[in-house]
Amino acid sequence: MAYDDTNVFAKILRGEIPCNKVYEDDHALAFHDIQPQAPTHVLVIPKGPYVSMDDFTRDAPAEAVAGFFKAIGTVARQLGMDRTGYRIVANTGEDAHQEVMHFHVHIFAGRKLGPMIRRAP
Ligand code: AMP
Repeated sequence: MAYDDTNVFAKILRGEIPCNKVYEDDHALAFHDIQPQAPTHVLVIPKGPYVSMDDFTRDAPAEAVAGFFKAIGTVARQLGMDRTGYRIVANTGEDAHQEVMHFHVHIFAGRKLGPMIRRAP
């Protein structure tokens, strides 16, 4: 799937719509999810034009991949999640119900998060 820069996270990166920013560096921007599913629910996105985990890990330079994943850890520590625990999720494609077609990692924290997947297939 080709990257379409009209997606909502591309607009946030360009500053066309606001976000509740948590962290930013050369590789990543992190902000609070608009519909939180945990007491703390943050999204971390790379600055480059990647649709999902798939093209990001295939096409992005190693420095960008490393910088992005380091940023996730930095955000978690900055918010104190390293002390209590947290979960990261990257919905990828149709079966995973990916809605925004700019690669993003969810960070959930702030309560007992329960089993990873609720029901068996
Ligand atoms: P996904 O299903 O993994 O693609 O998740 C997309 C996430 O983006 C959802 O949790 C939405 O609540 C979130 N979201 C959509 N628009 C915005 C926005 N403008 N600011 C912050 N989060 C958003």
